[in-house]
Amino acid sequence: MKRSIWLRTTALLGGTLIFSVLSAQNFDALFLRRTLRMDYIHSGSSGKSEISLYRLVEEPFWGGPVKNLIDTFNYGECMVKMFDLNTNALLYSRGFSTLYNEWLTTPQARTEVFAFEESVLLPFPREKVKVVLYQRDSNQEFQPLFSTVIDPGSLSIIRDQLPAYSSGTITGEGLAENTLDIVILPEGYTSAEKDKFIKDATRFAENLLSWAPYRDLRNEIRIRYVFAPSDESGTDIPGDTIWKRTLFDTHFYTFGTERYLSVKNIWKMHDVASVVPYDAVCVLVNTTKYGGGGIFNFYTVCTADNKASYFVFCHEFGHAFAGLADEYFDSEVAYEGFYNLEKEPWEPNITTLVHFERKWKDMLEPETPVPTPPSDQYKNKVGVFEGGGYMAKGIYRPWINCSMRGVVNDGFCPVCRRAITRMVHFVSDH
Ligand SMILES: [Zn+2]
Repeated sequence: MKRSIWLRTTALLGGTLIFSVLSAQNFDALFLRRTLRMDYIHSGSSGKSEISLYRLVEEPFWGGPVKNLIDTFNYGECMVKMFDLNTNALLYSRGFSTLYNEWLTTPQARTEVFAFEESVLLPFPREKVKVVLYQRDSNQEFQPLFSTVIDPGSLSIIRDQLPAYSSGTITGEGLAENTLDIVILPEGYTSAEKDKFIKDATRFAENLLSWAPYRDLRNEIRIRYVFAPSDESGTDIPGDTIWKRTLFDTHFYTFGTERYLSVKNIWKMHDVASVVPYDAVCVLVNTTKYGGGGIFNFYTVCTADNKASYFVFCHEFGHAFAGLADEYFDSEVAYEGFYNLEKEPWEPNITTLVHFERKWKDMLEPETPVPTPPSDQYKNKVGVFEGGGYMAKGIYRPWINCSMRGVVNDGFCPVCRRAITRMVHFVSDH
C-alpha cells in the first residue's frame, strides 16, 4: 500500500512538470520516433491478477501524439506509465482496458485462472526507463501490478524486419503525430480475397467518416489498411462447430455470448499493424454473421458483411477509441453488478451521479430535471435518463436512444460526440 501511494505521488509531480514544458523538440530529446511494444501475459482470477513479460519489440513507427504524452482522461481498467529512471519524472502514460478485465467480471473468474495476450505501445525511449502497469481495484483506484526497467539498448529487444505485407492509405493525409491514425486489418480473408478486403476496408472507413462527429474532424483522421492473408475464409463460430485457420484466431461466443467476437492473437495483430503508424487497430472479419467487440485502447473487431455491420463498427469503435460505455441495459449482456454504484464510472457517457459534475452536467439545460423522464418532451435533449451500462437502476445515460444504446445509424448523442472529439484532438496533438 505504501509503495502504491509513493508511486502515485511521484507520478503526479512528474506529470505536472513534463506536461507544462513538452513540445515536439522535447519528444525528440527523450524518444525515437518508433514504438517500443511490450508483449505480456495478463492472467489470474478475480482474487489475483498477474503480468508476465513475454518480449519487447521495436516497431518502426510511432503513430501516437508527440505533445500529449500524459493521459488526461483517466479512462480504462488499466494504465501504463513510463518514468525516467534517474529522476522518476513521468514521461508517458495511457489508460486502456483489456479482454482480461472483462473476463474478471464473469462467474468463471471466481474459480478459474485464465491467461490472455496483451500489448502496450510506448514511444521508444533514448535512455533507460521504468515502465509500470496499473489495474483498478474494487474502489476504482489504480494499483501497481507490474514494474520493469527497460534499457533501450538491450539485446533482448526484438528488432526483426517486418514481413512484406502490402499497405495503403484509404483516406486522409498528414503526419502520424498530427492525425488519429486508424489501421484496418484483415481477418479471414485469403490471398485470393485481397481485393475484397481493400474494398471492404474502404467502405468501412468512408462510413465511419460519414458519422458525426468524425465527418467534421476529417482533417485530423488518416485511415490505412494492411493486408495479410489467412489460410481460410471466415472465422470460428464454436456454436455452429465452424472452425477456421485465420490470422488472428478471432471467434464468436466470447464468454458464451454468441454475437461477441474477440481477437485471440493480440501480438500477431500488432505485428501486422506495425507496418504503418497507428493509434487504433480495427479488425475486419470476413463473414456475414452479426457481431463485434470494442475494448478501450485495445482493439475494435467487427464483421464485414452483415446488414448492421456499419452500425456495429461505429458503435464498437466508440468503445475502443473514445472509451464510451454501452448505454443499454435491456439485453442478453447482463453483467452482474458490472458497476459499483457508490463510485463514478470512468466512462464519459454514463453516470451514477456520484460525481456528475465530471460528466455532462454542463450540457444540461437548467430546467431539465435530474433524473429526466424518458418522455417525448425530452426526446432530443441531453438529460439524465435512468438505465445504462447493463443496469436498469442506479446508472444514468445522457440520451434516450444514442448509437451507444440501440441500432441507430449516425446517432451519437451530444455527450458521446464531445467525448469522441476530445479524444481525436488529444491523439492528433490539437
Ligand atoms: Zn451517447
